[in-house]
Amino acid sequence: MVISVRKGGELRVLTCWGPLFLLCFGVVCNAAPDPSQRDSLMRQETSRQIGGKVTLTAAEMKLDARLRGMKEHEMSLPSFPPAIHFFKAKPLIEKSPIFTLLQKMPKGGALHIHSSTLVGVDWLVRNVTYRHHCYICFTRDQSVRFVFSTGHPWPTWDCFYWYLLETLRAEMGDPAPFDNSLIQNLTLFTEDPDVAYPSQDVVWEKFEKAFVVASGLITHAPVLRDYLYKGLEELHRDNIMYLELRSGLARTYELDGSVHDKVWYLKTIQEVTQKFVKDHPDFLGTRIIITVHRTLSVSRVKAAVMDAIQMQRDFPNVVAGFDLVGREDSGRNLWYFRDALLLPANLGLVLPYFFHAGETDEEGTDVDENILDALLLNTTRIGHGYALPHHPLAKELSRAGNVAVELCPISNQVLKLVSDLRNHPAAVLMSEGHPLVISSDDPSLFGNAGLSYDFYQAFVGIGGLKANLGTLKELAANSIKYSSLPPHLKDAGLVLWGKKWDMFISTNVY
Ligand SMILES: [Zn+2]
Repeated sequence: MVISVRKGGELRVLTCWGPLFLLCFGVVCNAAPDPSQRDSLMRQETSRQIGGKVTLTAAEMKLDARLRGMKEHEMSLPSFPPAIHFFKAKPLIEKSPIFTLLQKMPKGGALHIHSSTLVGVDWLVRNVTYRHHCYICFTRDQSVRFVFSTGHPWPTWDCFYWYLLETLRAEMGDPAPFDNSLIQNLTLFTEDPDVAYPSQDVVWEKFEKAFVVASGLITHAPVLRDYLYKGLEELHRDNIMYLELRSGLARTYELDGSVHDKVWYLKTIQEVTQKFVKDHPDFLGTRIIITVHRTLSVSRVKAAVMDAIQMQRDFPNVVAGFDLVGREDSGRNLWYFRDALLLPANLGLVLPYFFHAGETDEEGTDVDENILDALLLNTTRIGHGYALPHHPLAKELSRAGNVAVELCPISNQVLKLVSDLRNHPAAVLMSEGHPLVISSDDPSLFGNAGLSYDFYQAFVGIGGLKANLGTLKELAANSIKYSSLPPHLKDAGLVLWGKKWDMFISTNVY
């Protein structure tokens, strides 16, 4: 087809054919596509993605080419792990050479993990429940509760009779099946997740129950110390050098029933981290984002905000800020709590926010507005931000304000926001180079450890073939850049991470 157009007073004759006809009316093309222009546009588009502006060294390019080959191979397999539920994909991921490389890769910091789900449940069952004075009860709703006590615990409304686990196991021939059943109460893992969890409501109910089951073990003061150390070990083993932990600073108890307050919890985190850093000098530290549940009243959230301000003053090296937790779809939205959340600004005080926002697929609802409200309330990062790509203005604001999204792919899949991770909306954020970090949210509940599994899903599934070694490099560096560390520690952290990165490249390029 030949058409003529008048452009800038000049008559141009254009030749168009087939499907390109429509393009002829666009700004991009006024003739048959020029291959060099096409290449240039492709390069420009790639340069916008996360890692698109990273210049790779010769060694990095070599490793990148190998990674691409591995990825092409995995994408051609009939069972592509990001496309299937993580509980079924996990053994496939563990066989992947990309995953093996990601395990070795220095991933920087884990910025979105909840304290009750930090440590693998195997350790809780096979170590903690085998300690002396551990009691169990079986609730009417087919769940369990634990408590440590020197004497026989009193009955409670949901626990009529407590059994000493030492005695109970002694009566069993083989405690292994019993231990496996305990693990089932502490994790969402099941062999057929689509049948076990037909809806978001069902999976969230099990999710919140598992937190309650773990609390009796983790809030025992001596266990908490070991638990935190063990959690740092698991992260360190996965080449993670820093942790920002969301925690409600639950009250902890001793065997004699005495109870410790939030300050004790913070001091314990500080002490355990100091010991861990002494034992592992390449670990930067742990900081806490204090959380409260979004089912609380405004007055209780106000009190929690004031408490958090005080604790940040008292523990400036430990407390990073504040967040609201719990399922967004069934809890109160951020705007509901505005009087509480505006308290610091109204009083001329400082309390950084790290809000969960947009962990929803209910577009257009009050909950969906959390994304914009989080930004209006000056959030430092956005937890999940699953809904962000559907909010163009909010996305512009978060990008302009350097507000990073904490992407937790496995969490979003297990909690049924998306089934095939190739369809995760964060693909848009990755391709646009939006500030982003990768995290694991509730690793113990998902049968996950460290960040390598989530990096795999983001790199192979969400990023697709376009995501390259530069993407991985930028994502890992982002976790230090967008952390709550003060500037001098960020600089030191980036230098340390850079050395680890160079070592990773030199030992894995061949
Ligand atoms: Zn979370």
